[in-house]
Amino acid sequence: MANIFRIQNFTRLAAAIIVALAVLSVAAWRAGTWFDDTALTVWVFDVGQGDAIFIDAPTKQILIDGGRDATVLEKLSAVLPPWDRSIDVMIATHPHADHVRGLNRVLEAYDVGEVVTSGVSYGEVPAIAFQKLVGDATVATAGMTWDLGHGARLDVVWPATAMEGAVLDNVHEGNVVTLLTYGGTTVLLTGDVEQAEEDQFVRGLPHVDVLKVGHHGSDTSTGFSLLNITSPTYAVISVGKENDYGHPSNLVVDRLRRAGAVVLRTDLDGDIRIRSTGGEPDVARIGL
Ligand SMILES: [Zn+2]
Repeated sequence: MANIFRIQNFTRLAAAIIVALAVLSVAAWRAGTWFDDTALTVWVFDVGQGDAIFIDAPTKQILIDGGRDATVLEKLSAVLPPWDRSIDVMIATHPHADHVRGLNRVLEAYDVGEVVTSGVSYGEVPAIAFQKLVGDATVATAGMTWDLGHGARLDVVWPATAMEGAVLDNVHEGNVVTLLTYGGTTVLLTGDVEQAEEDQFVRGLPHVDVLKVGHHGSDTSTGFSLLNITSPTYAVISVGKENDYGHPSNLVVDRLRRAGAVVLRTDLDGDIRIRSTGGEPDVARIGL
């Protein structure tokens, strides 16, 4: 009898290990970077109405915004190996709840190396909680850069000057905009920046393979000068299903298509993965 038990236990254990390995292999294939230290992936997570973008680069992991709730934690654990509980850099583009509330959950659950903000002062509860959790943050200004390994880099292109402590009527004016470059791959990450600011930082920008469309596709963003200069191949809109704001604006979707961009939307397409090994990127819908 004892032997039969032992054999049954062994079979169960072996089956459990095989299942675990299969699950991990699928996760590693999806993430696209676990076992390839030259690969870079950018995830535009489907977090409903909000933004949460994760850059898994050769030597650094960067989270830009965290959506409005804890959904970002599920997304991160779907693309990170279970043993990876740290993020090198966290960037809050601006202090609105649909960008920082999820970051608060991430700060509680992960080891975060450096936190970068627009420095703009804002009195809503999630923003105050964020500030408390973070303490001292780096204030972003154009020209700031992170080396992400193998020639990959992330550059701040807006705001032009540090906005530390600034009180603005519209916090989108101070929104942190970054450009990710890896060989032939360029991705512009705009947060909720609006047209008046786009017109100021767009000169000098290259063609971009992927534009993370500003402000969930609102018509306050994505002006003609931005589209003319960057001529994005793909435009990714991070937006919630049936949201109360009417995002994305049909005008903007039309403008993007006329500019020749393939439009992807998290409300219709789910999670979007941009993967590159230094050439042209591969852009795909990968449900997490
Ligand atoms: Zn906003």
